[in-house]
Amino acid sequence: MKEVLQKAFSLLDNETENFCALSDKIWEIPETAFLEYESTAVLVKALKDYGFEVSEKVAGIDTAFLGRYGSGKPVIGILGEYDALSGLSQKSCQLTKEPLVDGGAGHGCGHNLLGVGALAAAVAIKEYIKESGCSGTVIFYGCPGEEGGSGKAFMARDGIFDELDCAITWHPWDTNRTSNESSLANYQVAYRFKGISSHAASSPHLGRSALDAVELMNVGVQFLREHMLDSARIHYAITDAGGFSPNVVQPKAEVLYLIRAKDNTYLAELYQRVNKIAQGAALMTETELEIDFIKACSNFVCNDTLMQVMQQSLEENAPPTYTEEEVQFARDIQNSLENKANPYLRQSSRYANEADRKFILSQMDKPIFDFVWPFANVEGDMGGSTDVGDVSWICPTVQLMTATKPALVPGHSWQMTGVGKSSIAHKGMMYAAKIMADTAIRLIEDPEKIEAAKADLVAKLGGAKYECAIPKQVRPRAIAPK
Ligand SMILES: [Zn+2]
Ligand SMILES: [Zn+2]
Repeated sequence: MKEVLQKAFSLLDNETENFCALSDKIWEIPETAFLEYESTAVLVKALKDYGFEVSEKVAGIDTAFLGRYGSGKPVIGILGEYDALSGLSQKSCQLTKEPLVDGGAGHGCGHNLLGVGALAAAVAIKEYIKESGCSGTVIFYGCPGEEGGSGKAFMARDGIFDELDCAITWHPWDTNRTSNESSLANYQVAYRFKGISSHAASSPHLGRSALDAVELMNVGVQFLREHMLDSARIHYAITDAGGFSPNVVQPKAEVLYLIRAKDNTYLAELYQRVNKIAQGAALMTETELEIDFIKACSNFVCNDTLMQVMQQSLEENAPPTYTEEEVQFARDIQNSLENKANPYLRQSSRYANEADRKFILSQMDKPIFDFVWPFANVEGDMGGSTDVGDVSWICPTVQLMTATKPALVPGHSWQMTGVGKSSIAHKGMMYAAKIMADTAIRLIEDPEKIEAAKADLVAKLGGAKYECAIPKQVRPRAIAPK
């Protein structure tokens, strides 16, 4: 079996140039949520070229697809993303902010690497299944619209992940580690009020202001904050203030809410309370209310067994090393950071082992975190949300981070877009592919681990079952500004 494993890894080495070219290609055509047509074409072609059986437009989404290889159990899913962010266009490897296209989109979350790194892992797993002749199926999931769209939740609603025994994914970051962090569940909902227009001075008594309703709803929600769990978050943006004439009573107005909570159950409760406030605002202003549910995603459920397997793989496979030029470039990028705060200092308390904590603190001045992080004993909170959460409710799921950028470069920054085609990014992506493939192969070789992972999930959910919060009639929609 060792020889077969070596063959799978050699394939990754031999195809490195091709994978890096694919990632660079996607970096060059940044497309935002649910508009990833060209990126989809690039990845679908690559899957076909590598011998996968491809299904396109899955779950009725133009830019969602699968690539499948093998037969029988276990069925292992590798999740890839490829959407970009609006407004984060940046020239490659510059030390100052210089958009490639003014106001254009850019890969500020590194999903060009995420999609191709995951695909490369699937290719290596396919090679292993083929060469070993073992039972097993690998499915690459092309998941669109992660940024603000929750593409995976729509796919999950259609049962696309139901056949999986476990799922593996990763995220480009500045650390090489197994993620032991939960994320928040969220709903994104537009509240639209309809009133009656009127001359604001001569006949104000005939007008019913939709903008008043939006303002009253927001005030109501401010008062709600004192009476909800600390871990919940409610954000909003006024997406339609009704117009720019103060002398007209605004007949329409819209506010977009993003409501987050630690788990799906509490989020469903909190959402009903926000709805009541919206209804109250409509009642107070004699306006009509329309609640437009846009999307939802689940909290991420960490899986102890899968994390252990991945951590072992990280510790047995050394991370990349860097040239002097790469180290200098990383320092230069670090010097360009507007905010040099180090989030890892605060998180060091998650390491129960004193030696681990000391080790991490001793590494903090490095321009690239070129080491494998010890496992964080205490579960953390990634602070935001990810639609990988939905998959993690359906089957045991594990997430890897690898260093694809200089230390402390934040996500969703021009610097992160800018380094997305660098050799540092390429090395991190190929390392991620190797660790994901190796983790999957360890699971294929040890089916008991998969059973243990399933038992972990059942215990963590405490009897709760996955239910997609997105109503049946809601379709995914592009959220880019028109
Ligand atoms: Zn992101
Ligand atoms: Zn991301």
